[in-house]
Amino acid sequence: MKGSSADATHPDGPPGAGKGTQAKVIATHFHIPAISTGDIFRANVAGKTPLGVEAQRYMDAGEYVPDQVTNAMVRDRLNLQDAEGGFLLDGYPRTLAQVQELDSMLDDLDSSLDAVVVLTAELDELVQRLLQRAHVEGRADDTEEVIRRRQQVYAEQTEPLIAVYRERGLLVEVDGMGEIDAVTHRIFDSLEQPA
Ligand code: AMP
Repeated sequence: MKGSSADATHPDGPPGAGKGTQAKVIATHFHIPAISTGDIFRANVAGKTPLGVEAQRYMDAGEYVPDQVTNAMVRDRLNLQDAEGGFLLDGYPRTLAQVQELDSMLDDLDSSLDAVVVLTAELDELVQRLLQRAHVEGRADDTEEVIRRRQQVYAEQTEPLIAVYRERGLLVEVDGMGEIDAVTHRIFDSLEQPA
């Protein structure tokens, strides 16, 4: 990874592309925390906190939690001490408004992103993976209707971010299909290429 005051990278990709799994492997490798907005929301839902109560209705419907709520949560998280030496954001930013807010947070922290990893995948296979996961984990947010809505929201609100980060020279596109280990190797190989 390129040196900056705080190394930062984040993987994103369509729902179901295995980004959570990959995020944890990459973060462990670089000895930095993996900050997953989805995990934080799920923990708050489980703990029935006010944030969880607010987030749940959006998550259950396959919608994004409003930017203001999500941005405030990420800002608080990035200010914790364990993020001082770098961090990996999993599932954030997902909207253009979040990109702007993240830019401002990074400015305030005197930090910058080193890479933006996007995992690419086939839509039909993604839906199959999500249905399988819903079956295994019993996730309430993973009915077929909700899964389709999440894909649509991703296409409308998150896909445009790919062009933004490509323009900035930060984008690392990795084929997210196949075995978890194979995808991990592809990600590490791509991160080692000079941008
Ligand atoms: P994930 O596990 O990353 O797919 O996130 C699960 C759900 O949490 C998403 O479907 C959204 O409802 C919500 N969520 C996670 N990250 C964000 C974000 N950056 N902006 C808005 N909502 C989010």
